[in-house]
Amino acid sequence: MHEFSIAQSLLEIIERETLPYSGAKVTTLTLRIGKLSGVMPDALRFAFEAISTGGMAEGASLLIDEVPLKIQCNHCRKVSIADNPFLICPNCQGTDVEMIAGRELEIREIEIEDGNQGS
Ligand SMILES: [Zn+2]
Repeated sequence: MHEFSIAQSLLEIIERETLPYSGAKVTTLTLRIGKLSGVMPDALRFAFEAISTGGMAEGASLLIDEVPLKIQCNHCRKVSIADNPFLICPNCQGTDVEMIAGRELEIREIEIEDGNQGS
């Protein structure tokens, strides 16, 4: 269950980022997750929901932006989106390709709601 440890570190980042806003509540968390990061979005949602209970991120919606696997051919330099794990350039059929996107796992945005009402 490595989604649980990912959810745990996301929560730590959120806590650090929102430290200056005391009493704030996280409403939306937007993540970028690469297709090849090995993270299952549904499992991560479930894990995040479970560990955020009772904390400032409880009930926050998790928006997951899936990043497709992108490759660049070292032969013809063409960048393309690979939809299968066989890394072959669709332009020249070359196999000398480099993965340039698809392993991301990052927080893009944390939306918070100020806990101090009326200010
Ligand atoms: Zn090529």
